[in-house]
Amino acid sequence: MQTSFAPERLSADPQLASSEKILRTCVHCGFCTATCPTYVLLGDELDSPRGRIYLIKEMLEADKPATEEVVRHVDRCLSCLSCMTTCPSGVNYMHLVDHARAHIEKTYRRPLPDRVLRAVLAAVLPYPGRFRLALAGAVFAKPFAALLARVPGLKSVSAMLALAPATSEPRSAYEGPGVFPAAGERKARVVLLQGCAQQVLEPSINDATIRLLTRFGVEVVHVEGEGCCGSLVHHMGREEESLVSARRNVDAWTKTIEAGGLDAIVVTTSGCGTTIKDYGFMLREDPAYAEKAARVSALAKDISEVLATLPLTPVRETGQTVAYHAACSIQHGQQIKEEPKDVLRALGFVVKEPAEGHLCCGSAGTYNILQPEIATRLRDRKAANLARTGADVIAAGNIGCLTQIRSGLPTPCVHTVELADWATGGPLPAPLHGRGFERRPEAAA
Ligand code: SF4
Ligand code: SF4
Repeated sequence: MQTSFAPERLSADPQLASSEKILRTCVHCGFCTATCPTYVLLGDELDSPRGRIYLIKEMLEADKPATEEVVRHVDRCLSCLSCMTTCPSGVNYMHLVDHARAHIEKTYRRPLPDRVLRAVLAAVLPYPGRFRLALAGAVFAKPFAALLARVPGLKSVSAMLALAPATSEPRSAYEGPGVFPAAGERKARVVLLQGCAQQVLEPSINDATIRLLTRFGVEVVHVEGEGCCGSLVHHMGREEESLVSARRNVDAWTKTIEAGGLDAIVVTTSGCGTTIKDYGFMLREDPAYAEKAARVSALAKDISEVLATLPLTPVRETGQTVAYHAACSIQHGQQIKEEPKDVLRALGFVVKEPAEGHLCCGSAGTYNILQPEIATRLRDRKAANLARTGADVIAAGNIGCLTQIRSGLPTPCVHTVELADWATGGPLPAPLHGRGFERRPEAAA
C-alpha cells in the first residue's frame, strides 16, 4: 500500500514509523476478509481488515482527530488477529490496530455513557479486590439483566450482568505471593501469572496448574508485586495505563529472574500471554525497560506449551470426547495450534474440532460488554458449531472464552489444564460433577 507520510513526522515519531512500515506491507489482496468475523457477519468492507487498514492509514496520514466513522469500525474489530494468520504478506495488524486505538483514545471524545462504561471497566476489571466487590453486587442485579437489555443505552450493563457468575467463587488456597515446591527432584522453576479477572472468576484454573506442575517436578512461584498484564486497558487504547502495568510486571519478574533463575513465565489466560509476549515491542523505545521487557517476553509461555514438554500420562480411565475451542489469542495471537490438542490426546481424550474453528467466540476481552450484539451473534454461531461435535466437554485456554461459551451452551466448559490435572491425579473440575466422569474407574497402575 502506498503511503504519503511527511518524512519529518516519521523520523520524529517511532510509533508512526512502525505503523507506516506495516501499512506498506499490505498489498490489498483481500485474503483476510474471508476469515474476519466482523466481515463474515456484517459484509461491510469497512468492517474487514483491509477496510480498517485503509481507514487507519487515512487517519494517521491526515494527523487529525479520529472521526466517528473510523471509531465505529475500529471499535467493531475484535483484535482476534485471524487476519494475521491468513495474511500472506505478514501484515502486523495487531500493532497497527493498537496504534489506532491509542490515537482514538487521545483524539476522540466518546459519548458520555461510553466514556463512563470504559472508565468503570478500566478501574474495576484489572484489580481483583474491586472486581470481587463488583461481582458481589452483580449477584443481586443479575436477575434484571434481561429487563435492562430492553432499555436503550443499557445493553452493555445487561451484557455485563448476564456474564457475571450467579455465585462468587471461594478464594484460592494458593492466593498471594509464595513458592510452591516441586514434588521430588526440581526439574524447572517457573513464575505463574496470578492474573486479575481470572483469579476472581475461576481460581480453580491456576490451582490446577500449580498441582499439575509441582506434581511433575516444576517449582512454581507467585511473585510479589505483579498485577494485571495490562491487556484489558491496552485493547481500549489506554496506552499509558497498559505500559504502567507492563513496567510493574517486568520489574517484579526481573527481580525473580535475577534472584534464582527462571525457566518460564507461565500464563493460563491466553489473552494475557499474547500481551506479555509483546512487552518487548511495547517497551522497545524505553531505554530503562527495553532489554528487560524483551527478556520477559522471551520467557512467557502459554500453559499448553509447558504441558507439551512434560511426560504426561493418565492415571484415570479417560476416553471422553473433548471439543477443543482454540482461543484467538492462542491460535492467532501466539500461533499455538497443536500443543493443546496433543496434550489432550496424550492423556487419552478423544479430541474433536468444531467447524469454523478460526472464528472468534465474541468474548475478546471487554468486547462482549462493549459490542454485545455482534458478540452474541458470534457466540451463538460458535455454540452451534461446538454443539454439533457432540462432545462430552469443551476445553479452552482462556477464561474469557469459557465465560462466553458457557453463556450460550449447556455443555460443560473447562480449561485445558483442569482436564490435564484431573487426568494426572487432580480433582474433577466442578463443571464435570454429575456428568458421568466420576463413574470412570481409575486406570490400572
Ligand atoms: S482482528 Fe479480527 S475482527 Fe479485527 S480485522 Fe482482524 S480478523 Fe477482523
Ligand atoms: S491479506 Fe494481508 S496483504 Fe492482503 S489485504 Fe489483508 S492485510 Fe493486506
